[in-house]
Amino acid sequence: MTVLVRPKALDNLKVREFQMLIDGRWTNGAEGGVIERKSPGHGVVVSRYQAGTRVDAERAIAAARNAFDNGPWSHMTGAERSNIILKAADLIAVRSDELAYLDCIESGKPISQAKAELGGAVDIWRYAAALGRDLHGESYNTLGEGTLGVVLREAIGVVSIITPWNFPFLIVSQKLPFALAAGCTAVVKPSELTSGSTLLLGEILMETGVPAGVVNIIVGTGAEVGAPMTTHPDVDMISFTGSTLVGKLTMANAAQTLKKVSLELGGKNPQIVFPDAELDDFIDAAVFGAYFNAGECCNAGSRLIVHRDIADEVVQRVAALSAKVKVGDPLDPQTKVGAIITPEHLAKIDTYVRNAASAGANLSHGGSALDLGMGQFMSPTILSAVQPEMAVAREEVFGPVLSVLTFETLEDAVRIANSIDYGLSAGVWSRDFDTCLKIGRRVRAGTVWMNTFMDGASELPFGGYKQSGLGRELGRHAVEDYTETKTLNMHIGRRKV
Ligand code: NAD
Repeated sequence: MTVLVRPKALDNLKVREFQMLIDGRWTNGAEGGVIERKSPGHGVVVSRYQAGTRVDAERAIAAARNAFDNGPWSHMTGAERSNIILKAADLIAVRSDELAYLDCIESGKPISQAKAELGGAVDIWRYAAALGRDLHGESYNTLGEGTLGVVLREAIGVVSIITPWNFPFLIVSQKLPFALAAGCTAVVKPSELTSGSTLLLGEILMETGVPAGVVNIIVGTGAEVGAPMTTHPDVDMISFTGSTLVGKLTMANAAQTLKKVSLELGGKNPQIVFPDAELDDFIDAAVFGAYFNAGECCNAGSRLIVHRDIADEVVQRVAALSAKVKVGDPLDPQTKVGAIITPEHLAKIDTYVRNAASAGANLSHGGSALDLGMGQFMSPTILSAVQPEMAVAREEVFGPVLSVLTFETLEDAVRIANSIDYGLSAGVWSRDFDTCLKIGRRVRAGTVWMNTFMDGASELPFGGYKQSGLGRELGRHAVEDYTETKTLNMHIGRRKV
């Protein structure tokens, strides 16, 4: 059984209409198309965006290039930029309910979670502002009497920022304020499924005093708008979050003109649990990690790797707790698992579950789509007796589907954890510190949580090993990522030949 929260009809809904932001002006797309976004939880159109094309991407890139080469932003002091970023953080905080509502209604995520993400985003903008004041290089006076070496960190230039639909406002906040703090200009393309909050951010930035052309926000499909943002010679860097498939395409495109790339891609993250773990905490974290954002999360703890001796107990307790998770209306403050992003994606999740069952996995809980009268929903689902070679154990399902695998020795657990192409994050649960550290050191993942799961902080770098990505976001080097290094080699006095 699943606890259902039936969505209420969106009475008196006012569909929001958005334009694109190019060179400081709100504008329609060059070719006049419109994208309609249906709320995944309610099945009705809630937003209309302009459908941008290559022409719009080129206009936006030209504006960003001009603003970078000639505009005041890159010439401001770090303190001046920082103050504007701080002001943006304050305005984001003021409008956070409106932004959270848009993320909730366009993506189907629970409203309580959307609000928490906005809180996290405000903190990231403040952190970026602080780092922006401290961006500095190095100097060397040890190169000989007549020589002084100065190493500068200069803004890299125009950055293409491309984001996915699952954390619309949070992910643009992991990129844009750091690029701005470095002195870059940007063309931002949110997912065409969830563009609303990023466009609202454009309003906020205009109000804050970010000069025209410094931030351009365009909307459209990956093929129409995203691709030119990855190939155009006037773009210096691409900061991309999305699927590994499109990440690889992005990197190949970037190679044509040798742009720098930062890639935050997919994950299939293990939580490894030993018999001596604090099981109450682990069971909570297993349920939270699997179903957070309906499992549509790069960090989802979608693989439980459980010691054989406690496997039956773990499956039974995780199933019992899963049955209590409230699924349904994203706008209801009680909801923990909202809607699935599109009907096509729901069908894909369903296929993974059915194929796993045919391949010999046991369906220990859930396993089907839920009919709540409107929108598209999936029951929290547990597959046990999953084998490491099954697709459901290796590929990103991106739904509320938990695969349970078993191990006997620590070496087995590490081997199973590392046996796939992804390496974004992992969790380990044991009261023995040695065990945690051994796993922490040997699992190839960008983040390893020990006796906790999915906690984050603006100060802690985040990103993936292997095919989960390239580079890191957040942390104290996040602004430096948007810079080039320049050496000034200075000679003092008469130069000897
Ligand atoms: P996606 O790759 O389909 O799309 C991501 C963005 O890329 C969208 O804006 C899309 O329009 C654009 N795009 C698509 N094709 C493009 C192309 N040819 N050229 C340029 N841009 C193109 O991903 P998605 O379905 O929106 O998001 C889900 C994926 O994102 C999952 O794989 C998830 O793991 C990943 N993700 C990773 C992180 C992380 O931090 N590692 C965070 C969130 C999501």
